[in-house]
Formats: sequence, C-alpha cells, structure tokens
Amino acid sequence: MKNSKYVVSKYTPTYPNSAEREYERIASLYMKEFNRIVKENLPEVKRICEDSYNTDSRFDAKNNLIDKLCKKILNDAVKRIANSVFETMVSGIANKVQKHSLQQWTKVMKKTIGVTPDKEHYNKEFYEKIINDWIEQNKKMASDIVESSVDRMKSTIQYGIKRGESPAQIAKEMQSVMKQTISHAKQASKDQVARLNTTIEKAHCQDYGANDYMWMTKNDSIVRECHKSFHGKIFSWNDPPEIWHIGPGKVKIMDGRRCHPGEDYRCRCIAIPVFNFRKE
Ligand SMILES: [Zn+2]
Repeated sequence: MKNSKYVVSKYTPTYPNSAEREYERIASLYMKEFNRIVKENLPEVKRICEDSYNTDSRFDAKNNLIDKLCKKILNDAVKRIANSVFETMVSGIANKVQKHSLQQWTKVMKKTIGVTPDKEHYNKEFYEKIINDWIEQNKKMASDIVESSVDRMKSTIQYGIKRGESPAQIAKEMQSVMKQTISHAKQASKDQVARLNTTIEKAHCQDYGANDYMWMTKNDSIVRECHKSFHGKIFSWNDPPEIWHIGPGKVKIMDGRRCHPGEDYRCRCIAIPVFNFRKE
C-alpha cells in the first residue's frame, strides 16, 4: 500500500530583515531625491497660480503650462530612477536576499534531511531568471510610483487653481501627496523583498521535489483573518490558496487572487518547507 509521509522542516527559515531594511533605506533616498525635484519646481507652480489669478488666461493655456511642468518633474525624476545606479542597488538587494535564502535552505536540508546542498548546483544560472525578472519588476514599480504621484500632483494643482487656492496651500497639498508617495514606496520595497524571498524559496523547494510548505504567520495581533486561517496548514507550491477578506456584514469575500506566504500586500508570513516522502 502506498502512502505519504509529510516531514515538516525541522528548521524554521528566517526572514531577510537586513535586505528589507536596506531596500527601505534606498527607497527613502530615491523618494527624497524625487521630493527635491518637486520642491525645485514649486516656484514655477507658484508662478502658474499667480498668473492664472492675475491675468484672465484661458483655461487651456493654463492647463498646458501645468501639463508641461508635470512632464518636466516626471522626466527629471524618472531619469534618476531609470539609471544604472538604481539598477545596481536593486540588484545588490536581490543578491542579498538570494544569499540569505540559500543559507536558510542549507539549514533546512541539513537539519531535516541530513544533507548539505551542493553549492555548485546553486550557481548564478540557477537564480538568473528569477533575479532578472525581479529587477525589471522593481524598475517598473519605481517609475509607476513616481508617475502616479506626479499625476496626483497635477490634479492637485488643477483643482487647487479651480478652487482659487493660494500657491502656498497648493504647495502644501503637493507635499502631502509626496508624503503618501514616500510611505507607499517604502511599503512597496518591503513587499518586493518578501516576494523575492518567497520566489527563491519556492525554486529551492521545487528543485529538490519538496512541493509543499506549511504556512506560518507572525502570530501577532495584526495578522489578517485570512492569513490566520492558513496558519499551520499545508499548501502546494503549485497551488497557492485564494486570498479573502471580511466584507461588510462580516461576509467572507474571495479576492480572486492566489498567494504564497509573503506574496500578498504587507504580508509578513513565511513558508516552512514540507518534504513528502513516499513509502511503499
Ligand atoms: Zn501574511
């Protein structure tokens, strides 16, 4: 008779905290740079406002000026992000996460199977596609964040002028958009580290034939209900569970997304490898 014996890893992998902190720091630096560019352009915002209040300029002409200014801010900001320095920094984070993950995998294997993974096997080629895809995603993410922030600033200026707000008030509102952008960028960088960590762990597991994992939350008060319900359960790397949330009237609403630990927004959960030994 055939049956399976699930062996949960005797070692609990740790999270790449230092890579996470470093990426958050890089995201902060870049957002400060973006903020500096925005601030440099505030005198121009002021001029456009004052012009449109003092002269009876046409709506189109005014909008053209705002358009031009926002395009300039966006171009300057994207130029700084889409350069090779950013790519080098991001690829440094990827390498850090990869090294951490391999260390964790080595401990999992040693403590659970009694085998030390072959270092030669986990070479550059093993991770190449994962890391390159991740870097591309991150470059796109960074420009998307800047682009949507500039879009919001544009509406802030347009509506501000429509409502007759003072240039100082409009500048204040632009700074509040900036503040939200900074916190969004920091959270997005954390989420990216979690996602990469999971993707690499998945590659290690599946390469060895460990196709399952046990979901583990941080087990604290801020773990969302959905992830709490996954805690301690075994899932397949080929079939991530569907994410849900509690809607109005305490009804469970399926989100239509499937995620492994660390892949959902702000997820701090981890996957503990599970080995499935077939016994005859
Ligand atoms: Zn989670």
